[in-house]
Amino acid sequence: MYRTHTCGELRLQHKEQQVTLAGWVQRVRNLGGMTFIDLRDRYGVTQLAITEDSPDTVKETANALGREFVVQAAGAVIERSNKNAKIPTGEIEIAVTGLKVLNAADTPPFTIEGESDGGEELRARFRYLDLRRPPLQNALQLRHRMAQEVRSYLDNQRFLEIETPFLIKSTPEGARDFVVPSRMNPGEFYALPQSPQTFKQLLMVAGYDRYFQIVRCFRDEDLRADRQPEFTQIDCEMAFVEREDILQAFEGLAKHLFRSVLGVEFAEAFPRMSYADALQRYGSDKPDIRFDMRLHDLTGRVKGKNFAVFDTAEYVGAICVQGAAGYTRKQLDELAEWVKRPQIGAKGLVYIRLAEEGAKSSMDKFYTPGELQQIAAVLNARQGDLILILAGGRKKTQEALGSLRIEMANRLGLRKSDTFAPLWVYDFPLLEWDEETQRFYAMHHPFTSPKPEDLPKFYSTDKSEIAQVNANAYDFVLNGTEIGGGSIRIHDAGVQQRMFEVLGFSKEEAEYKFGFIIHAFRYGAPPHGGIAFGFDRWCALFGGQETIRDYIAFPKNNAGRDVMLDAPAKIDDIQLKELQLVTGKSEG
Ligand code: ASP
Repeated sequence: MYRTHTCGELRLQHKEQQVTLAGWVQRVRNLGGMTFIDLRDRYGVTQLAITEDSPDTVKETANALGREFVVQAAGAVIERSNKNAKIPTGEIEIAVTGLKVLNAADTPPFTIEGESDGGEELRARFRYLDLRRPPLQNALQLRHRMAQEVRSYLDNQRFLEIETPFLIKSTPEGARDFVVPSRMNPGEFYALPQSPQTFKQLLMVAGYDRYFQIVRCFRDEDLRADRQPEFTQIDCEMAFVEREDILQAFEGLAKHLFRSVLGVEFAEAFPRMSYADALQRYGSDKPDIRFDMRLHDLTGRVKGKNFAVFDTAEYVGAICVQGAAGYTRKQLDELAEWVKRPQIGAKGLVYIRLAEEGAKSSMDKFYTPGELQQIAAVLNARQGDLILILAGGRKKTQEALGSLRIEMANRLGLRKSDTFAPLWVYDFPLLEWDEETQRFYAMHHPFTSPKPEDLPKFYSTDKSEIAQVNANAYDFVLNGTEIGGGSIRIHDAGVQQRMFEVLGFSKEEAEYKFGFIIHAFRYGAPPHGGIAFGFDRWCALFGGQETIRDYIAFPKNNAGRDVMLDAPAKIDDIQLKELQLVTGKSEG
């Protein structure tokens, strides 16, 4: 037997027991006559003590140990004279009477402790060493717990876990597909699924009325911060349901996860908000409602005072930042630069500081102190508050204010990672018009159903009417992050065909790419709908972290590379030939 206990298990109650532990040497402290070794496994750290009285062989072995050696240690559990309250095993140590090296280790390239001295790139190259660190072990344990709880909850609700293929047909709509050449079908390619969307719908046609899968998805996108080319979804679909059934079912799942994983209870139903309201109130379709700081529309109120910036704007909106009147001129200038960054896109920033000596504003010239006070009243602002105002096109300005709202909340520490504010956002527009390609794109995906009352507009020949159609779609938002999205689907072959027409596909194109699903809808497709959750991100949010990378055992870097494997990589000529991928490189 390699071990009787783990390195996280022993307490004072085990005093005097003979035990054997196995693990990695985290640290060796040689204090003349005494040697202390921190022995680590994924359960914790236990101190091994080697004293003058220990057998000579033990002392010799201990002297030769280096960091990350794998060892087996036997001895009695004794009470420590110098207790360490920081670790659960801190009251005891092992008086070692037997010590065996199971495997030596090269000196690791960085320290393997709670905090490491290794840079990100280095730790990524030695991911298996980084994974020994407690923060990463905790992250993967949390992920495991989440997955188990998802399975047990959905199983109880009679969902079936069904796997769908990874080698499918390329039908890019939205992101790019990763493609895989087929050796047996030269010149032809599979694609890796961006999600199992069409398969789960076909499972509904097939009668499996409650499906789920914790499934890998692949998207060949330009990687924005904290995206992974392969990521995991909790993918779900139900038949014979309306929106309300789906929201109920998955609010149940979310509450179960909050309760079982975090011990957080939500007695009330999650708030719900339409897309239009979310934009108007929070400047975002994924509002962080852990704090208030709502947007206020000042458009009607501020015009006609000869301030051209406001007079010519479609929309003027503001937020009130409580207690921030102390912002200095320099800080405000810096904030003005911040809103002008291309990602935010505002033209400039107007402020009103409700200081002790009265309202001070960058638009003093145009508004009397009384008028400034009136604006402050609209925002319920009080002395000590700072009002920030942006003006411009409606949607863009609302979104810019939304970003400013988040930025201010970050600066003020209002976004606490141990506070959770979930909500549903629904009634998204069905389509987005793209100026560049002069066509509509599905905002969610092409299988999302229009709201039934909008069907007449959906069949209109007038593009501006089609643009107004709302989708029967919904997102699950947690702390300002969209972690789930889904919709009631189209289940009528005619409506589905109309959708492809609106998206600018010819009949032939639609048939080539999506014929299988249009055909399936002709053989008794039940009304159905579903949702998918970003599993990696949900785990990260529950773990109180911003980045999903720690919640994935072997993630890719920002450039989509696995730096441990050094992938992607070239393949050799034989493989290329077999796949008929050799391009006629001209020689000489
Ligand atoms: N397949 C969709 C997605 O990946 C989710 C859904 O509609 O269920 O975003």
